[in-house]
Amino acid sequence: MTVPEDLSSVILSPSFAVLTTEHQCWTCAAVAFVSALWVPRFVERFDDSEELSIPDPAVLRYVESLNLPAKQHITAVAPWMVMATTKGSGTRYLANHCQACGALQGDFQLFGVDGPFGLVTLEKRGTEHISVRYVDCAIEAAAGIAQATWIDQISAKALQPT
Ligand SMILES: [Zn+2]
Repeated sequence: MTVPEDLSSVILSPSFAVLTTEHQCWTCAAVAFVSALWVPRFVERFDDSEELSIPDPAVLRYVESLNLPAKQHITAVAPWMVMATTKGSGTRYLANHCQACGALQGDFQLFGVDGPFGLVTLEKRGTEHISVRYVDCAIEAAAGIAQATWIDQISAKALQPT
């Protein structure tokens, strides 16, 4: 159960948002920020260079690579997101780290049903506690994607100027 269920492809979007919420570190129990990348719509490019245009929002998971301008914006907004190799998945991706102890907070847990970006958590709690930082910069990422009702609800917040 530690293998990402989405096969990674390249995701392209003209803009994105950084979603941030609080979460209790699994290692030291401090409350720390964790973030996820949200796109309002996207093009998915596969290995055979076939492209699929999706008009709906999604959240990127297991981001294995990223264009530099997008990465710079993310580092400014969410410096706890750093490329790291995880023991669980064995892959290197842009992962959240606890601001108190530095422990990696893996996507598998964060996006798991009970995690802060998990389906069950968000359908129960809603998205009020998620802060949305819209970034007017194109993103090109090798990543998996997740789509869910709560991800669609982010749209209204993301498109408001901050
Ligand atoms: Zn910690």
